[in-house]
Amino acid sequence: MKLTPLELMTKLISFPTVSRDTNLPLIDWVEGYLGSHGIKAYRWPDPDQPHKAALFAHVGPWEEGAVVLSGHTDVVPIDGQDWSSDPFTVTERDGKYYGRGTCDMKGFDALAIWALVEAQTRGVKHPLQLALSFDEEVGCTGAPPMIEAMQPVLPKGGPVIVGEPSMMKTVTGHKGGQGLRTHVIGHEVHSSLLHIGVNAIMASAPLITWVNDTNVANRDKEPGPLAAMFDPPYTTAHIGMISGGTAHNITAGECDFAVSFRVVPGEDPQAWCDAYTEAALQVQSDIQAIHPDTRVELSPWFRVPALVPEDNGAAEALTRQLTGDNETHVVSYGTEAGQFQEAGYSAVVCGPGDIAQAHQPDEFITIEQFNAGHAFMEKLLARLQQG
Ligand SMILES: [Zn+2]
Repeated sequence: MKLTPLELMTKLISFPTVSRDTNLPLIDWVEGYLGSHGIKAYRWPDPDQPHKAALFAHVGPWEEGAVVLSGHTDVVPIDGQDWSSDPFTVTERDGKYYGRGTCDMKGFDALAIWALVEAQTRGVKHPLQLALSFDEEVGCTGAPPMIEAMQPVLPKGGPVIVGEPSMMKTVTGHKGGQGLRTHVIGHEVHSSLLHIGVNAIMASAPLITWVNDTNVANRDKEPGPLAAMFDPPYTTAHIGMISGGTAHNITAGECDFAVSFRVVPGEDPQAWCDAYTEAALQVQSDIQAIHPDTRVELSPWFRVPALVPEDNGAAEALTRQLTGDNETHVVSYGTEAGQFQEAGYSAVVCGPGDIAQAHQPDEFITIEQFNAGHAFMEKLLARLQQG
């Protein structure tokens, strides 16, 4: 039985696929649903996380150049959020569909699954692919192995549409991101003797100051043409969490935090990490001068490539034709589109809903936006049916 886009979204949202939890029941269901319409789905089971898998499928002529519709299956947690209705039950109120993932991004996933089944049953002259990832919300770590796994299995796809909420605008650029975890190991003594101890929290302060100074210096730089498209028009560094110490009168033995960079296209994220590493090495040599057992350990956290606006990009041309939107849009958040682009695809971000509603309590997508996504898929199907 064929489900409507709304029925599909309702089904997808009923699976509480918070990033830390399994997405296999959702993947099982999608695989079964596609199979019931004669579509073979392939999965990439994550060997390091047996409770997670990505899924991809191809419909239409077995040839290269398929339009690829891609979304992530994971959602952010609802912990500590005050919801007016069950987050995992789609609820319609005031012209909106409420539920965790309606906007980010099971609404698009549902539309993509719907389009794939329609392409199969109507018959298309040009192929369509679906790619559903996981672990997007924890640093876009699920898409790269999925993209790699697709290569030997499916004919190489052409334009990729990553349906993150963009109000159906064609987003051709976004910042990249890279992060480093920082673990400072100090030397514990009674704080009355702090001159012979190393307080890991206080030793971390120069690194936090380095982050602040970097933001000020970047803000005051003249932006290049690519950077100028963004708000703010420069690379930013951020520390969102910190922990350390055990008592007010003991020099902190450890301090943990992570620094992340949002890097404008055209700048090398690794160069920012290298600069931070240099600052960390300076801190390490300073504290080791006080006590040799102290150190600063850095470890890679995540890396998301920027989406660089393409010259005459196939994905951009396609979504502009389908939406009629010819303006330039870039966003400051990372998506899997940069990862597809890095793997050699032409990629854009274009999906229903407003990013402002993502991750919020009472997350919603307006019915108008959901229907706009549906209309987009209808136009795409009509195009794939043409000779
Ligand atoms: Zn998302």
